[in-house]
Amino acid sequence: MKLVVLGAGESGVGTAILGKQKGFEVFVSDKGAIAEKYKKVLLNNNISFEEGKHTLVEIFNADVVMKSPGIPDDVSMIIDLKQRGIQVISEIEFASKYTNGLIVGITGSNGKTTTTMLVNHILKKAGLNVGMGGNIGESFAEQVAENNFKIHVLELSSFQLDGIEKFAPHIAIITNISPDHLDRYKYKYKNYINSKFRVTENQTENDFLIYDYDDVEIAKWLSENKVKATLLPFSLTEELKQGVFIKDNSIIIKYKTEDKIMGISTLALKGKHNTKNAMAAAMTASLLKVRNNSIRESLEDFEGAEHRLEPVLKINDVHYINDSKATNVNATYYALDSVKTPTVWIVGGVDKGNDYLDLMPLVREKVKAIICLGVENQKIIQTFSNVVDLIVETAGAEEAVKVAYKIAEKGDTVLLSPACASFDLFESYEDRGKQFKKAVREL
Ligand code: ADP
Repeated sequence: MKLVVLGAGESGVGTAILGKQKGFEVFVSDKGAIAEKYKKVLLNNNISFEEGKHTLVEIFNADVVMKSPGIPDDVSMIIDLKQRGIQVISEIEFASKYTNGLIVGITGSNGKTTTTMLVNHILKKAGLNVGMGGNIGESFAEQVAENNFKIHVLELSSFQLDGIEKFAPHIAIITNISPDHLDRYKYKYKNYINSKFRVTENQTENDFLIYDYDDVEIAKWLSENKVKATLLPFSLTEELKQGVFIKDNSIIIKYKTEDKIMGISTLALKGKHNTKNAMAAAMTASLLKVRNNSIRESLEDFEGAEHRLEPVLKINDVHYINDSKATNVNATYYALDSVKTPTVWIVGGVDKGNDYLDLMPLVREKVKAIICLGVENQKIIQTFSNVVDLIVETAGAEEAVKVAYKIAEKGDTVLLSPACASFDLFESYEDRGKQFKKAVREL
């Protein structure tokens, strides 16, 4: 059997290793340059590969093709492959065949990484044999090849889910849904939503779907479609018959029994969005029989992920917070919501079709100044010039931080939460966050 792997990134190289181990003849093809570290791995494993081109005779000779998530479905080579009846799947589809481990699959528009890390942290601390992967860290395929985890906690992008056929997590989480990546979905929000829900399409009555009860898009989809898995919603606003909710400021899990897990004030991660992430993670752990006390301890001592509402420093009684990972309006909404003081807000970058109006009430309430950090800032300026007196344009992290430092007063917060991608001024959101932190530390 011949396996062709398209794209030699983390998931491609992981799939190649697993394919080789399972006896496939493997060929890896990448249209761009392959990173040195991945080339080394391919060479060490005696896997044949090409870079800078796609040799179609080799590719069309495949029995099965694994397509990396970065390659859109509508490029001609992929259409051709499908027309020829060659199976085109994603890494998670390929790898899941080769593990008997239990899979927790986490998707959604925002909060995937945080929730994945929370679940992993709780399960690890409870002594379970767990591996974390997917869109985060090491690929799932490589883990299946090299470890023997009993539980896989996977962060799943919609692109990974687009390439599944039978993949079925025992526990699926949909954190929330808001518009993102619409360029890959023919600008149809519905296609993107359907893609997220594929996480549950192969689940059976023995499986579980955990989701945000308060999310209107999720509620709508569920009212129009059938799901086999047991539904376990979480809600900040309603006491549910089954699922996770808040009562007297405590997180309650109600499934078979009703258990109080902990007060929300002692959660390590602040903000309503993180309370929701914690609720989803707690539900997961509870299904996997982790004791309530152990769940509570882990949610109390969890250390947040970098660039997600990350506290940087307090200088002259001003808090500096790095939320560079907020690359859409919804994420920034929760960042602004979580800040309790007057705020100097650093925002901007590459706008993916943002509608800033959702933010208006929060901006009115607490933003005293806006610092634009992007090449094209007109939309931000136009939207907010009536509500915020001071709007300054800057073209780099250091400049933005210096301006913020001048404006901010005792008790304020300086929040980098851009609501935009970073590629106009930075290499990535990580680069943006790192430059911001460096500039703050050098104040
Ligand atoms: P993802 O992996 O889905 O991009 P992250 O955990 O990396 O999610 O968080 C991305 C951004 O979204 C961060 O700015 C974070 O503060 C914010 N965020 C985290 N969880 C949620 C949530 N449940 N709802 C909305 N925004 C969230």
